[in-house]
Amino acid sequence: MRWTPGNRGNIEDRRGGGGIGMVPMGIGGFILLAVLSMFTGVNFFALLGGGGGGAGSATVGTSGSVSATPEEERLVDMVDAVAGDVQQTWARILGGRYETTSVVLFRDETQSACGFAQSATGPFYCPSDHKVYLDLGFFAELQRRFGAPGDFAQAYVLAHEFGHHVQNLTGIEGKMRQAVRADPSEANPMSVRLELQADCYAGVWGHAASQSGRAAQGEVELDPGDTEEGLRAAAAIGDDRLQKLATGRVMPEKFTHGTSEQRVTWFRRGLESGDPGACDTFGGR
Ligand SMILES: [Zn+2]
Repeated sequence: MRWTPGNRGNIEDRRGGGGIGMVPMGIGGFILLAVLSMFTGVNFFALLGGGGGGAGSATVGTSGSVSATPEEERLVDMVDAVAGDVQQTWARILGGRYETTSVVLFRDETQSACGFAQSATGPFYCPSDHKVYLDLGFFAELQRRFGAPGDFAQAYVLAHEFGHHVQNLTGIEGKMRQAVRADPSEANPMSVRLELQADCYAGVWGHAASQSGRAAQGEVELDPGDTEEGLRAAAAIGDDRLQKLATGRVMPEKFTHGTSEQRVTWFRRGLESGDPGACDTFGGR
């Protein structure tokens, strides 16, 4: 993936502390493990080898001061560049309906309008304050624990969360909540549809970013092989794979994000079409 560092206008940097989890719509993975740990009393994070907290985080000191490695600073620039590009893409698609938002970077824990957020919950979007929350440590987990390395794998995670922002702005998310209130037994199937649509929306951005000549204009441009990297990441965090990893079995009634195959299918649909209209995961009802 090629990109140019910008002015970090898409970032709200809370890595120096400040703030303190309930998580409605993440990328999957960590949320599931956290939930499993909660219900079974078994610490799946420990089983997977490692603590649940933000890996390698420095001491959180006085608010505002950030000590970070050059590698981490480069990651911040990448997140900013991708977030800016994703937002530009949706502003083009939605016109005046799109509202610019930002990525809150934190270490270990922070407060969101959706509750207390911890690294272990993974990246998520909070519909109440319209922000994307990310502990950069997740990218290392994506590579180490889930076997999905690469910058476009990371970009897919971000673009997925911005997909939830789009769902919020267009009212899809509100309708889904209403439907679940009317029939709570629909909570899991509806969550899967919402998450798969966010995957498809991530693909819509990937399609835009795959057009040649973008890097020359300072925009994000995919390299050959990036698409496969993203699809591998989508496959890595399917509910069936994560459940199997955590418990050794698969419980479809507890799916929240869809199977690996479903996630790949919908992400690919967005990637190939570049059309949000191809992302109607609710249509088959
Ligand atoms: Zn999600």
